[in-house]
Amino acid sequence: MDVILNTCDRYFFTPYIYPVDWAEDNIIRQSLSLYVFLVFVSFLAYLSTATLFYVFLYDKRLMQHPQYLKNQISLEIKCAMKSPLLGALLFLPFFVGEIRGFSKLYDNVTDYGGWPFIALSVVSFVMVTDFLVYLAHRGLHHPLVYRSVHKVHHAWKIPTPFSSIAMHPVDAWMQGLPYHIYPYLFPINKYLHLGLFLMVNVWAVSIHDGYFMVPDSLKPMINGAAHHTDHHLYFNYNYGQYFTLWDRIFGSFRDPTAYEGKSPLDEVIKNNSK
Ligand SMILES: [Zn+2]
Ligand SMILES: [Zn+2]
Repeated sequence: MDVILNTCDRYFFTPYIYPVDWAEDNIIRQSLSLYVFLVFVSFLAYLSTATLFYVFLYDKRLMQHPQYLKNQISLEIKCAMKSPLLGALLFLPFFVGEIRGFSKLYDNVTDYGGWPFIALSVVSFVMVTDFLVYLAHRGLHHPLVYRSVHKVHHAWKIPTPFSSIAMHPVDAWMQGLPYHIYPYLFPINKYLHLGLFLMVNVWAVSIHDGYFMVPDSLKPMINGAAHHTDHHLYFNYNYGQYFTLWDRIFGSFRDPTAYEGKSPLDEVIKNNSK
């Protein structure tokens, strides 16, 4: 993030926005710049990724399902637009901490264990965040917080790619926390962390697109759109993000209806053939 902030400072903030005597390493200036950048990039990443998945992968026949809401996509976009405004504010301390050197992010591959450590970091990041997101998501289903926080995201019984961040900002914050806590707990190359963070956002859209493109051999392990679609429909199953592991360990795994020919899309096809 420091590389991105420095580039924004050099080409945009310093020459056009801020007074010349405001130091680039001033914490208020850094916070303000990061907030503007995060809101802008969050909107852009959400709209562009969801649009691509909607155009190329989403089966529009799902929109004929009786539980698909009228004008659902515009409702989802309206809901999602609120998330980055508060979400960026809640994540700001983590980004400012990174910029000011409080995290364990490092610059060069050779700084910390070379390429083997990069490979280990990928595995570790995916496994650790998968577990923490599972806990956060399961916690969000607790009656004390479900109604006030997570229920917003479950309004979409038949999710679309635009459902991914169509949620309460606190919900987005809680499920996003693991990705920001990780570099404070474990050393990780800063470019790798950024790349993995982008991948996480694409994955979040992909599990809402209703397109079950998981190879047969990986179906028992991967928590894909088939699992997450059922989570939206049946609530107490398949809380996972990438893998089915934690759902299996904690007893919340359920074989997706899509694997039994009973998915929402199968229902639509059956209704249309009557
Ligand atoms: Zn969802
Ligand atoms: Zn949920």
